[in-house]
Amino acid sequence: MQTYTPELALISARREFGEHGGVAPSISRSATFTVVDPHTLPEIFKGAKGPEKGGCFLYSRHFNPTVSVLGRYLAAMEGTEACMCTASGMSAIACTLLQLCKQGDHIVSSDTIYGGTHAFLADLLPRFGIQTTFVDITSSAKVEAAICKETKVIYTESMGNPTLKIADIPTLSKLAHANSLKLVVDNTFAPMVLSPAQMGADVVVYSMTKFINGASDLIAGAVCSSTDFIKSLMDLHQGMIMLLGPTMDPRVAFDIIQRLPHLPLRMREHSRRAMAMARMLEEMNMPVIYPGLESHPQHNLLQSMINRRYGHGGIIAIDCKTLEKAEQFLDILQNKEKFGLIAVSLGYFDTLMSCSGTSTSSEIPQEEQRQIGLSPGLVRLAVGYTGTLEARLAQLKKAAETVLTA
Ligand code: PLP
Repeated sequence: MQTYTPELALISARREFGEHGGVAPSISRSATFTVVDPHTLPEIFKGAKGPEKGGCFLYSRHFNPTVSVLGRYLAAMEGTEACMCTASGMSAIACTLLQLCKQGDHIVSSDTIYGGTHAFLADLLPRFGIQTTFVDITSSAKVEAAICKETKVIYTESMGNPTLKIADIPTLSKLAHANSLKLVVDNTFAPMVLSPAQMGADVVVYSMTKFINGASDLIAGAVCSSTDFIKSLMDLHQGMIMLLGPTMDPRVAFDIIQRLPHLPLRMREHSRRAMAMARMLEEMNMPVIYPGLESHPQHNLLQSMINRRYGHGGIIAIDCKTLEKAEQFLDILQNKEKFGLIAVSLGYFDTLMSCSGTSTSSEIPQEEQRQIGLSPGLVRLAVGYTGTLEARLAQLKKAAETVLTA
């Protein structure tokens, strides 16, 4: 277990109060910012003055005061020098990889990642001359073998979507740095639980749409890294966030700022309930995958990397083997037991449930899904915390008995 405490790091960030002494920060909605002295504008464009140097904001695609507060809080939480918030998780991932790679470069990626990211790497980046080799990220020998002289990045999710493979971040970081590569980690499934930058990741990306916001009412992303890397993303000539423009709206930033303080509490409860459900299913001899269970192949590895107090995450996978069984299971869970909602995404207060192969992983060709152990009947439960745990366990037990033992 790691000794890092992200919630203490989070409260160590300078607190932003609102106008008139508001305990909530104010929302700065201006698209552009005026200056008193006409010489100031050229100085900002030259980089001589800016929000961190002389307090001048320029234009909200560049920097916005409210979005910058959220970035500051996230950097504190992850223990990185800086963070830039974006309009979505996909834009955080896409801008990061485009910033690190140019035509002719190569990426070694985990084969078990969100379908949209897989499509970006496998189908879109080749149009820009960037190739990716997908490997089993749990084998450092396979990762090493895939590195070639064009490789610039090792890309992985800390907990792979949806089969919950765990990446060995310290080992991958050593491998990356020994080969002068950058390690980029998507930590969307495990905020608080894992702090990849503390274990050597160069860039940590998030879909804040999920656990970090926690209310399934907005789309948002973040890139946490060194000041130099964030500066490169915002460069006036070659910055991917600056020039592609996936800017976060300050109202979205405000909403997330207000929910960040209870992220640790929420993660603890997501994890506590996921563990109880996974244990119950395992005792019932159900085909359950959860990295908190000792039966999970990377349980010990995860145990060595987690921060104390936040459990092992809020996602469980249940292999119903066939799509028909999975759909029957989902139907009973939602429409008979009222256990959760059939929907993609995760990190909501209600349980969200989907069959991954035909939804959020559908971009991965079926043959590849088979190779990575993603069964057509795999149901992902993003465990929520509404209702009592006892009642939820009883509902899940009934549905599992009806469908999975039949
Ligand atoms: N990363 C992971 C692990 C995801 O599950 C998702 C979306 O489901 C994304 C990134 C993309 O995030 P967004 O939908 O915020 O663009």
